[in-house]
Amino acid sequence: MSDTSVLTRAEAVERHRLLDVRTVRLDLDLTRGPEVFGSTTVIRFGCTTPGAGTYVDVKPAALRRVVLNGRELDVAALRAGRFPLTGLAADNELTVEADMAYSHTGEGMHRFTDPADGEDYVYTQSFLDDGPRVFASFDQPDLKARYTVSVTAPRQWTVVGNGVGRQVTPGRWEFAPTPAISSYLVSVVAGPLHSVRAEHDGIPLGLHCRRSLAAHLDADAPELLEVTRQGFDHYHRVFRHRYPFDSYDQCFVPEFNAGAMENPGCVTLRDEFVFRSAVDDTRREERALVVVHEMAHMWFGDLVTMKWWDDLWLNESFAEYMAYSVTASSTRFTSAWTGFAANRKTWGYDADQRPSTHPVAPGTVDDTAQALQNFDGISYAKGAAALRQLVAWLGEEAFLAGVNDYFDEHAFGNATLDDLLRALAATSGRDVHGWADRWLRTTGVDTLRLADGRIEHTSADGGPRPHQLTVGHYRRTAEGALELADRVPLDLAADSTAAVKTDAELTLLNDTDLSFVKIRLDPGSWRTVRSSLGAVPEELARAVLWSAARDQVRDGELAPGEYLELVAAHLPGETSVHLVDAVLSFARDFVVDCAVPPTARPGALAVLNEVCRTLLRRTEDETDHTGLRLVAARGVIGTAAGEAQAAELRDWLAAGTVPGGPVLDPDLRWQLLLRLCVLGAAGEPEIAAELAADPSDTSEKGAARCRAALPDPGAKEAAWQALFHGELSNYLAAATARGLWQPEQAELLDGLTARYFEELGSAAARRGPALARVLATTGFPAFAATERTVRAAEACLADPELTAATRRGLVDQLDTLRRAVRARARAEQ
Ligand SMILES: [Zn+2]
Repeated sequence: MSDTSVLTRAEAVERHRLLDVRTVRLDLDLTRGPEVFGSTTVIRFGCTTPGAGTYVDVKPAALRRVVLNGRELDVAALRAGRFPLTGLAADNELTVEADMAYSHTGEGMHRFTDPADGEDYVYTQSFLDDGPRVFASFDQPDLKARYTVSVTAPRQWTVVGNGVGRQVTPGRWEFAPTPAISSYLVSVVAGPLHSVRAEHDGIPLGLHCRRSLAAHLDADAPELLEVTRQGFDHYHRVFRHRYPFDSYDQCFVPEFNAGAMENPGCVTLRDEFVFRSAVDDTRREERALVVVHEMAHMWFGDLVTMKWWDDLWLNESFAEYMAYSVTASSTRFTSAWTGFAANRKTWGYDADQRPSTHPVAPGTVDDTAQALQNFDGISYAKGAAALRQLVAWLGEEAFLAGVNDYFDEHAFGNATLDDLLRALAATSGRDVHGWADRWLRTTGVDTLRLADGRIEHTSADGGPRPHQLTVGHYRRTAEGALELADRVPLDLAADSTAAVKTDAELTLLNDTDLSFVKIRLDPGSWRTVRSSLGAVPEELARAVLWSAARDQVRDGELAPGEYLELVAAHLPGETSVHLVDAVLSFARDFVVDCAVPPTARPGALAVLNEVCRTLLRRTEDETDHTGLRLVAARGVIGTAAGEAQAAELRDWLAAGTVPGGPVLDPDLRWQLLLRLCVLGAAGEPEIAAELAADPSDTSEKGAARCRAALPDPGAKEAAWQALFHGELSNYLAAATARGLWQPEQAELLDGLTARYFEELGSAAARRGPALARVLATTGFPAFAATERTVRAAEACLADPELTAATRRGLVDQLDTLRRAVRARARAEQ
C-alpha cells in the first residue's frame, strides 16, 4: 500500500548486522468483531551496538501501546509502517499492542464470510512483507526467531498455527514454540473449521476447510493424505534431515491469491482445491503438485531460508522441480512431466520473452516491492527447468548429496545461491559456478533450429546456454503409422553447432523435453507434423510439438489459421487430457479471441466447437465423465454461438446434464449460464434463480461473472463501478473482470477500452498489489488486439505514478497484445 515503506536490501543488511532476534510471543484476539483484531507482540532481541537505533515494522489500524525495556514510547512516532526504536540495550524486550484491520484482498489477515451458512473464517498471509499487518516484527527473512503464539477466538472456532496447538480453556488456544523461522512464514488459520486428522511416520497430519465444504473434503481426504504420505516418504528417502517441524496441517482457505503458501506446519492452500464439482485429472495432478511443492519448502525455504529476496527463485525453482520429480515418480500422476511440457513451461517461455524478463537468479533485488514482481514464470517454470538441466548434467546422486550438505550446514538459518553452488561443486567435482553463469545469470530462451543437417543454436541475449537433451528420429511403419526409430542423447555445449541426421520422417530436437529451449523443425519434419502430429507415439513428444506450434504463432511465424488446421486435424484423436486441455486453452484464449481478425472469428470459433463435439462423440461410451469427456463438454459449452446452439445449451440446463453425461454440477451450470449471458440468451432472472438455488461462494463468483458479461450498457457500467470504484474482494474482482470483456461484444465495449487505461492506475494504487495484479492482468482488454489499444497501453505505461505491480502486469499484457496484433496482421495478409 502506498502509505507504507518498502524495505530495501541495504536497510535489511544494516538491521541484520545490528540485531539478533531470539524469541517472539504473539497473542491475537479474534473476538473484536468483523473489522479489527487485537495483536500483542513481545520481541526479545539482542543488539550488537548498544545505544544504536533501528525500527520495528508494524502496519496497524490503530497503534495502542509500544514499550521498549519498560519505557512507554509515544505511539504517534509511527511513520509509514515503521516505528522507530532508539537507545537499544545489549538485551531488549519490545512490546507492541495494536488493533489490526482484517483484509479482503488476501494480504495480511484475510476475513471471509461464507455465503453458504454465514460463518466467518480468517487466515493470515504474511508473505512477502504483509506480516506487519498481523503482528509487529523485524520483517526480513534473515532475522529468524522462535515464535510462541496464542489466540483468543470465538468458542466454537478451531485455530491452527505453525506449532501443535491445544485449546486450554474455551476459546483460548496455545501453540507449541516453533524452531527458528522467518517472520513471513508465521501463520494462523481460524474459524468453525471442518478437520480431518491422521498420522504418518510419527507426524500428526491435519486437513482443514470451512464447514460448508466438509463433505467434499471428506471425499477427497484419502487422495490428499495418500499424496502427503507419498511426499513425506520420498523426501525422507532423499533428504538426510528429517521433517523439521512438529506437525503438518494443510488448511484450505477461501479467496487465497496464490496456489498455496509453505508456512511451516501450517500450509495454506486455495480452497478451490477442495473440489465441489467434477474435475479432470489434470486438476487433481495440479493439486498433488502443489501439495508436494509445499512439502519441499519445509526443507528448502523453511529449514534453510534465503538470506534476501534475490534468492526467492531458489525457493521456488527447487520446490517446483522437486514437485514434478516427486509427483511423477512417487504418486499415481505419472505423466506429470507432460503437464510441465504442455502447460507449466509455457508460463516460463512467455515470461522469458517479454521485456520484463530477468535472470533466474537476479544479481540484485533492491527492495521488497521489486521482489514481489519476480514471483513469476521465470522463478517457477524456467528455474525448475534449469534445475532439471543441472540434475541431468550432475546426476541425481551428486545433486542430492550437495543439497543435503547444504541443509546440514545451514539448518534453521539462512543461505545464498553461492552456498548451494559451492555444496554442489564439492559433491560433483564440476564447474557448477560456470554452469550457473550461463543458465541462471542470463535472460532469454535459446532457439535450436534444424537446417541442412545441422543445429543452428541462437540466443536472445547472444550468449547461448549448454543443453543436455535428446533427439528423436521417427519413421513410418508399413501401416503408415509413426514409430521411434532411435533416440540419441546430445550434450550441446554453449558455443557449438552439432550435426544431426535428418533423413527420418520426423526428427525432433528435445523430444523428451529435458531442456528449456524453443525448437524449429526442418521442412520435411514439419510436413510430417502437419499430416501426422497425432500419430507421434509418445505424448511428451507431442507436447513438445504442440509447444513449438504455439510459439511459432506467438512469434508470428505460423498463421493463426494454420494452427487451427493442426487443431482440427489432430486434437479430435488425442488421448492425453493434458494436451487437449492445453491446446484448447491456447487456441481459444490467444488464437480465436485475440489473434484471429474479427471477421474470421465466428468461423474459428466454430472449428473449436466442432473439435469438441467430435471429442464428445468419441467418448460417448465412457462411463467416467471426468476425463476427456469433461474437457470436451466444457469446450462445446464455451464455444457455442448462434441461436440453435444457445437453444441446445438451454435444453441441457433444463435437463441438468449434457446428453450422455457429464451431469451439470455447479461449475458446469455457471459456465453454461455464462455462455448464455454472453450470447444474450439469458439474463438477470436466470442468474438470480441459479444463485438462490445454491447460495455458495461458487455462485457469488458465477453470478458476478455472468452479470458483467451481459451484453447491456447498464450491466457493463455496474461491473465497471464495482471493479474500479468499489471494494470487491480479490476473488469477486477477478470474477467480474473475467466477465467484463467478451470478444462477441466488441462494439459495446469500444468506449470502455480507452477508459480502462485512464482509470487503471488510480484504482490499482487504491486497492494495493493483489488487486493491482487482478486489474492489470485479468482486467486487461486482451481481445482488443489493435494498434489503437497498443498505443493506449503505451501511453498508460508512461505514467510515472503507476505502482510496481500495475506496471509489471501492464508490461506483460502489452507484450501479448503486440504478439496478437502481429498474428492478426499475418492472418489478414
Ligand atoms: Zn513455492
